[in-house]
Amino acid sequence: MNAPQKVSEAVAAPVGILAELTHRCPLACPYCSNPVELDAREGELDTETWKRVFSEAAAVGVLHAHLSGGEPASRRDLVDIVKHCHDVGLYTNLITSGVGISEARMRELADAGLDHVQLSIQDAEAQSADRIGGYKGGFARKMDVAKWVNEVGIPLTVNAVIHRANIARAGRMVEFAVELGARRVEIAHTQYYAWAYLNRKALMPSREQVEKAVAEVEAMRKTYAGKIVIDHVAPDYYARYPKACMGGWAKRTLNVTPHGKALPCHAAETIPGLEFWNVREHSISDIWFNAPAFNAFRGDDWMLEPCRSCPRKHQDYGGCRCQAMALTGDPRNADPICHLSPHHDKVAAIAATFEEVDANVPATDYVYRTLKTQAPVA
Ligand code: SF4
Ligand code: SF4
Repeated sequence: MNAPQKVSEAVAAPVGILAELTHRCPLACPYCSNPVELDAREGELDTETWKRVFSEAAAVGVLHAHLSGGEPASRRDLVDIVKHCHDVGLYTNLITSGVGISEARMRELADAGLDHVQLSIQDAEAQSADRIGGYKGGFARKMDVAKWVNEVGIPLTVNAVIHRANIARAGRMVEFAVELGARRVEIAHTQYYAWAYLNRKALMPSREQVEKAVAEVEAMRKTYAGKIVIDHVAPDYYARYPKACMGGWAKRTLNVTPHGKALPCHAAETIPGLEFWNVREHSISDIWFNAPAFNAFRGDDWMLEPCRSCPRKHQDYGGCRCQAMALTGDPRNADPICHLSPHHDKVAAIAATFEEVDANVPATDYVYRTLKTQAPVA
């Protein structure tokens, strides 16, 4: 799979870049989507390299810079990076746990041109939220940060990952986001890879809990129409067709890891045999148009049946390559979420594990996410 594939369609410029500025984070969420092998502080790209990356991204046509982590506020140069992104014409979105942002720093970020803040919450109740995030006092800090974001006039999105310990409050989290002054809330059910895969026994809700929570959040759309936009990412195990993962492989966005590896999606390294290029050695333009990993699943030449002859192939692009890899062993297969996939029974087997969950068992047995070089959090 290392050789670049023939791409049968013109490659459009990327729209967004997700920059994982660091994997360091004061929190330790057991569902964190960062890889289990986290990038250590030593080896993180320095300020000047990140600035070059953002300049190159803007030059190639990128519009949005999503500054993520870990916790991006763990970087001392965050304000400097935001200012640079602003100066090269990028819309900047800070994806943060809120911990590590003081009122003064929020004002500096606003002055540097920050356009949007996406604040994660672990629960709508302090005690539970702090236990899930593995950080005492985190909940209170988030409430302060939301207040400061509103005061400096930056639009706020709140996002919450749903699992067994907080699923009873899925609807309450929408109300809570309204109380925090958010214009948008994202309620996303846990996807079971990376740290969430390690913790799936403690995280998985029962099917009954999932159905109740999904109905509750959907009902909120009516209640809060015009007040807040609700993005609801429900589990796809019961869907007939897969989602167009990432809007299509290497079609709209790219990710850059703390150590500079460029990925078509944050889970792409789970696909063996792909060759990833590093921003230290290649420009963003070179990576986007020529990196083997980016070209591996562009166009439709790589598709196998039933996708190859399916009328929906340019609608969902065969779903998620990483999920196809994880559940069928071949990333070229149709995402087995699709009822037309010959491997669809594997999804049914996963859905069946929801039935086995004993929701009365408290979710206490987490393997907290931690960097080897980072002291465990209390
Ligand atoms: S999910 Fe939790 S641990 Fe992972 S980066 Fe976000 S706040 Fe930090
Ligand atoms: S067969 Fe492939 S392209 Fe067709 S709907 Fe299923 S996943 Fe999508």
